[in-house]
Amino acid sequence: MKIQNLINDGSKYLRNNNIMSYKIDSEILMSKVLKKKREYIILNPNSEVNTLQSNNFRKLIYQRSHGKPIAYLTGKKNFWNFEFKVSQDVLIPRPDTELLIEEALKITKNKSKLKVLDIGIGSGCILLSILKEKRNFYGIGVDLSKKCIDISKINALNLGVNNRIKFFKSDIDNFNYGKYDLIISNPPYINKLKLKYLEKDVFNFEPITALNGGLGGLSEIRKVIKKSSELIKKNGKFILEIAFDQKLKVLKLLTNQGFYINKVLKDYAKNDRCIVSTRI
Ligand code: GLN
Repeated sequence: MKIQNLINDGSKYLRNNNIMSYKIDSEILMSKVLKKKREYIILNPNSEVNTLQSNNFRKLIYQRSHGKPIAYLTGKKNFWNFEFKVSQDVLIPRPDTELLIEEALKITKNKSKLKVLDIGIGSGCILLSILKEKRNFYGIGVDLSKKCIDISKINALNLGVNNRIKFFKSDIDNFNYGKYDLIISNPPYINKLKLKYLEKDVFNFEPITALNGGLGGLSEIRKVIKKSSELIKKNGKFILEIAFDQKLKVLKLLTNQGFYINKVLKDYAKNDRCIVSTRI
């Protein structure tokens, strides 16, 4: 069968199952099956696809039609300037989280040899992007999931920053190692009772432990702030991702734990998403 015919069939199937990005998704899945770039798929519509490849493609289309995110089907996601390996054990890196990188790079513009801690490292996208951009920074990544750490380690190796990072499998409450110039975190912050209202692609496929912020959504944020106030150096910077409706409460928590608020940033949808503060 020809690439074009399969893609058309796949697109139609996805569209009938209410997948809005049906065309691009079909192309991406075809490029995954053929191990070619998307450009190749588009430029060679009449190339023949063998039976095994056609079957693999149809399987992926079927999974996508049930909402499984493209990143989990391809096993990778672009974030900042880099590509990250992902599995269903890690949250898929979000474009909004790139805000944290932007701020981290601004704050540390003329600094060298800083020690950076990422609480809840997940895929590693935040800390590894910073380490990749800042050639002489050191990183520590903490996560309570061994599987996340395994993925992060692979990503560290792929980006060539593995010699400047250490990983700890730990709950943040029990982590007491080192003092840091910069702490960053995108903790689980969705109100437990609202998890079910997340998009189906998110709720059905992404790790709930990476999303569930307990009743009120602040359980993990509270822990992260408290521990950060102990692990951070004086004048150290703290960059935290929050939910759209948590600004006031989180500002209070930060102030109570000895942080001065530098700024609150909005994401692409104009929601409060990121707080930058300094330990005083
Ligand atoms: N931004 C993510 C979402 O809306 C949530 C990430 C988190 O809880 N840290 O799906």
